[in-house]
Amino acid sequence: MGAERHPAPDHEVVVIGAGPGGIAAGVKLTRAGVEDFVILERADEVGGSWHENHYPGLEVDIPSLAYQYSFARNPHWSRLFASGAEVRRYHVAVARRFGLYPHLRFGTAVAAEEWDGDRHCWALRLADGGVLTARFVISAVGAFISPKLDPGIAGLDRYRGRIQRPSDWDDDYDLTGKRVAIIGTGASSVQITPAIAGKVGSLAVFQRTPVWCLPKPNPRIPRAVRWALGVPGVQAGVHGAALVAVDAVVRTMSNAPMPVVRPGLRAIDATAIRGYRGLLRLLVRDPGIRAGLAPDYGPIAKRPTLNTGYLLAFNRDNVDLVTTPIERFTEHGLRTTDGIERNFDMVVLATGYHVFSDPETYTPGLVVGCDGLDLGKYYIEHGLQAYESVSLPGLPNRWTLVGPYSWTGSGWHAFVEMTADHAVRAISEARRRSATRVAVRQDAHDAYHRRIYRNGAAMRYYLTELNAHVPTYYRNSQGDSTYIRPTGFFSARRAHHRFPFTDYDFDRRTA
Ligand SMILES: Cc1cc2nc3c(=O)[nH]c(=O)nc-3n(C[C@H](O)[C@H](O)[C@H](O)COP(=O)(O)OP(=O)(O)OC[C@H]3O[C@@H](n4cnc5c(N)ncnc54)[C@H](O)[C@@H]3O)c2cc1C
Repeated sequence: MGAERHPAPDHEVVVIGAGPGGIAAGVKLTRAGVEDFVILERADEVGGSWHENHYPGLEVDIPSLAYQYSFARNPHWSRLFASGAEVRRYHVAVARRFGLYPHLRFGTAVAAEEWDGDRHCWALRLADGGVLTARFVISAVGAFISPKLDPGIAGLDRYRGRIQRPSDWDDDYDLTGKRVAIIGTGASSVQITPAIAGKVGSLAVFQRTPVWCLPKPNPRIPRAVRWALGVPGVQAGVHGAALVAVDAVVRTMSNAPMPVVRPGLRAIDATAIRGYRGLLRLLVRDPGIRAGLAPDYGPIAKRPTLNTGYLLAFNRDNVDLVTTPIERFTEHGLRTTDGIERNFDMVVLATGYHVFSDPETYTPGLVVGCDGLDLGKYYIEHGLQAYESVSLPGLPNRWTLVGPYSWTGSGWHAFVEMTADHAVRAISEARRRSATRVAVRQDAHDAYHRRIYRNGAAMRYYLTELNAHVPTYYRNSQGDSTYIRPTGFFSARRAHHRFPFTDYDFDRRTA
């Protein structure tokens, strides 16, 4: 009778999302011997951002060697910075090689997650109206959860031309000779601008904030080097050396005393800004455009970009930089606050995403845990926080791969691998103990959050004081910099691999 009252959940583990994080979780679960898991993915293929995005010029902006899994190092990358298509193929190949396809359910969007305290499981409400239950949930929905559909510019619905979004690029639309505008100067815009400048009739780049953009030579990787990269240990060694450097930067920033940090960061920013003006003098001919492209903030206050063609594109006669704010869309284009109207056949909305580090991204009602704890409301009231960036006391049996204070400054794969390791380690321990409920202890969570908040002082100073004038997703609406984990890479990895099991309560449902 007990079994009827509390039937077993549909699956032992449900992973939400099949991007790089979800794939990592699937592989780790398989390796831990968990067979009963599904990966729910709203799209029709694996790859996440790399499946969704296929806009012109898409490439990785960190070397390909650092943008891959430690368990599937690819010696065949064609270039130092692989194209979006190559990265997409890589993820499909990894999912196939590690046997994930039988576990994948495409076209399945999770609309809400509710904890069932009686059954010790999560009820996942699906967008198609179905419900799926899971003992454990790994949320791998990523960092850039969804593109901002509304760019916050009046009159969008009046515009009769073509609206194009980087995350939903219409490859069939012929750009030849078209009058094109691109709104935004973030990472996507920096890649799209030089990729289409030679094809379109005219291109106007509407800029709110100038972006830091350094040249990115992208040579083909010679055959001999590819051979060497196939030698066991070589790629791991090169990547390890890069991680040591990244770790040193993050740790120095997190541990240095504030009386040193303040003048140090001020001096670094001032020097970098002067240096960048020199680079602009070398690369951009027109003094007016050059001045418009010069940031007045530090290089890591906003996501810096790498692209050789971006600044050079502004030397073309058909490319214009518009720094006057946009007032509204018109029927045929855009009107700026100086009253000038420009007509366009197509407007690209490169206006960003709802990101994981903003409390507003967590819609109330989406994730509801013990005693009605609503993740969205909790984050708005208490600020973003999670034990080791992955779990919260009121949300048992649930781990998030990209949570508050999580990004380690490294390549994405290295970081989601370690958060996936954390989740799978806790799940494996629960299985060993036949526990049906695993919840991080409140005291462990509080102690961790106090420490991480203290460590974030330098980053907060940098983003909320020194560079407070820059709009950036590295600083959220609560004035917190919850994007980066201020501990360094290796300490984060150690913590995910060795967290004491006493930081969690493991219980077994008795009824
Ligand atoms: C255009 C672009 C370029 C980038 N380039 C770089 C780069 O060069 N270097 C770098 O370090 N980082 C880069 N990033 C950041 C990061 O590395 C990528 O976003 C990466 O794909 C993140 O992997 P993920 O698995 O965490 O999330 P995602 O790739 O976003 O995958 C999340 C998956 O979850 C699915 N999903 C979300 N919600 C639901 C739901 N409710 N139900 C079901 N499925 C859901 C999504 O459809 C998606 O497939 C880039 C990001 C973008 C958007």
